[in-house]
Amino acid sequence: MATPLLQLIDITRIYPTGEADFRALDRVSLTIEAGEMVAIVGPSGSGKSTLMNILGCLDHPSSGEYLVGGRKTSHLASEDLAELRRYHFGFIFQRYHLMSHLNAVQNSEIPAIYAGVSKGQRRASAEDLLSRLGLGDRTEHRPGELSGGQQQRVSVARALINGGEVILADEPTGALDSQSGKEMMALLKELHHHGHTIILVTHDPTIAAHADRVIEMSDGRIVSDEQINTSNAPPAVVLDSGSAASEGHLLQLWDRTCEAFRMAWFAMSSHRLRTLLTMLGIIIGITAVVCVVALGQGAREKIIADINSMGTNVITISPGKGWGDWHSSAIHTLVPADLNVLAEQDYVDSVTPSLSSSQLLRYRSITASASVTGVSADYFRVRGMTLAQGNKFTNTEVKQLAQVVVIDENTASKLFSGNESPLGKVILLGSIPCRVVGVTEKKESPFGNNQNLNVWIPYTSAMGRLIGQNYFDAITVRVADGFDNDQAEALMTQLLSRRHGRQDFYTSSSDTILKTVNKTTSTMTLLVAAIAVISLIVGGIGVMNIMLVSVTERTHEIGIRMAVGARQSDIMQQFLIEAVLVCLLGGSIGVLLSYGIGFIFPLFVTTISMHFSLWAIFSAVLCSTLIGVIFGFLPARNAARLDPVVALARD
Ligand code: ADP
Ligand code: MG
Repeated sequence: MATPLLQLIDITRIYPTGEADFRALDRVSLTIEAGEMVAIVGPSGSGKSTLMNILGCLDHPSSGEYLVGGRKTSHLASEDLAELRRYHFGFIFQRYHLMSHLNAVQNSEIPAIYAGVSKGQRRASAEDLLSRLGLGDRTEHRPGELSGGQQQRVSVARALINGGEVILADEPTGALDSQSGKEMMALLKELHHHGHTIILVTHDPTIAAHADRVIEMSDGRIVSDEQINTSNAPPAVVLDSGSAASEGHLLQLWDRTCEAFRMAWFAMSSHRLRTLLTMLGIIIGITAVVCVVALGQGAREKIIADINSMGTNVITISPGKGWGDWHSSAIHTLVPADLNVLAEQDYVDSVTPSLSSSQLLRYRSITASASVTGVSADYFRVRGMTLAQGNKFTNTEVKQLAQVVVIDENTASKLFSGNESPLGKVILLGSIPCRVVGVTEKKESPFGNNQNLNVWIPYTSAMGRLIGQNYFDAITVRVADGFDNDQAEALMTQLLSRRHGRQDFYTSSSDTILKTVNKTTSTMTLLVAAIAVISLIVGGIGVMNIMLVSVTERTHEIGIRMAVGARQSDIMQQFLIEAVLVCLLGGSIGVLLSYGIGFIFPLFVTTISMHFSLWAIFSAVLCSTLIGVIFGFLPARNAARLDPVVALARD
């Protein structure tokens, strides 16, 4: 004898309930051949639905063996069980279990989506089935717009779309009026005549009378099993699995992914406010990151440009071991003799010392605080400064400790009124009267603060008359053209070390400043990145939270999808895509928002500009995707691991 289509051997299903376990099925053995029409009858609670769920591979028996076409189902993985449901079984439920947000065609084609049938093809076969079931004019209607009988026929179409070799109908007429019930039975009989195996649960004996075989159950056992009609159906057509109609593997995957996108989009757009609030965390996070990175980049570029404008061939010698050396103020070894020796070196173009102090300037009734720096006549050449009016002081004036001063433009406009020429005027530096000999041209200061007042006097005057110190704060050298900076730096270090007996100074050039700036900005970037990661994690937790809610809300939908053949991976993919989509959308809005801010920003701040790099945008998008995957994973896995029967039972 050929292998029976379905075979139950000693099946027991135990529900753990409280103290005593409940035996819903008790050692049930049953064989169903292809092409049979079987009615299962019995009082409520006798285990009919439990039996149906096991027959349809929705539920697992606690013990015993169930074979489908000779294959032991206990050995099958959940993916294989999903495949059986997808291609061989078609469920018809008492309460239809249609998805209320999809129309008739969309509801009927769901199993075909998971079977990888192309969109055009499955649409066509769904419409064809629906019109054969008398719903040709109702294809665009949603379940809410259909009568019970019509809804049940949609679910028949869904059961048949992949072939529906075995139709499992659990009280299909239970929720229908008697007329629709009759029509439904006529439909099932017709399907039987076309070779489908029909298994139907009912408690109505007149309906059971339509079947060829009636199995009666009571308290989880089969109490009778009778052949009441001899089937006059043609030999069962064992329908091929829908795979004949399906496409190439990659194309299938693409199609299913598109479908998952569509479902995710639908889920998001049906809860707009909630989606928006969920995205807010991601939006803020991404906006903050992109803006701060853009600002940092803008600031960095400005600083570098400023440093480069200062000239790249200037080397400053300062006491101490390096920037921020606390002991440097105790080192007094940079003296005029060093200056004179340096000035004689052929790699030195010009050299100036500097010693600064803050002094009160006074001219007539106006006083102002300024930074007074003692320098040599070469200072303006070293620093690349030009004079707007008058002249710098001469070397002779430096030798004579002359009381002359060069002032900057800020000072000029502070002390002198618009049309008064500062040249030749005597101002008080502290208590020392000095004659103004020159006014410098305005120059963009590298570090922004343009409000400071700066004046320069001969270093000899500063040492002897004003500050009273016999050493310099620093010496700055402009390297002669044609000489290498690094080489000059090394030679100077060697020379001064020999003179001082040890190296109690350090040199810095714009190169070293650049290095420091780079180091500082990379530290800043790291800090910003840390803050960004924290804010994005917070956003991600929000996404995870809402995805968990979404899974709970849609447990019933997940149950339906699994019953009609969705794999665990399909469910997982659906929720992961939803999470990624929320994050990507949030990320895109964040990027757009950043650009908006970048557009408004220059209207308020002119000193630095925001510099958006493609890289930042790319990483923002990458970040959002990653967050979606990472924080969507747990909810998606929860959804995929749901037990189909449990999920179906949930409302
Ligand atoms: P029928 O469909 O014949 O009315 P069921 O198969 O639905 O009966 O249920 C058989 C028995 O198993 C019932 O007494 C029911 O209370 C019990 N039962 C069904 N599902 C569960 C469950 N998930 N947990 C505990 N008991 C259950
Ligand atoms: Mg039942």
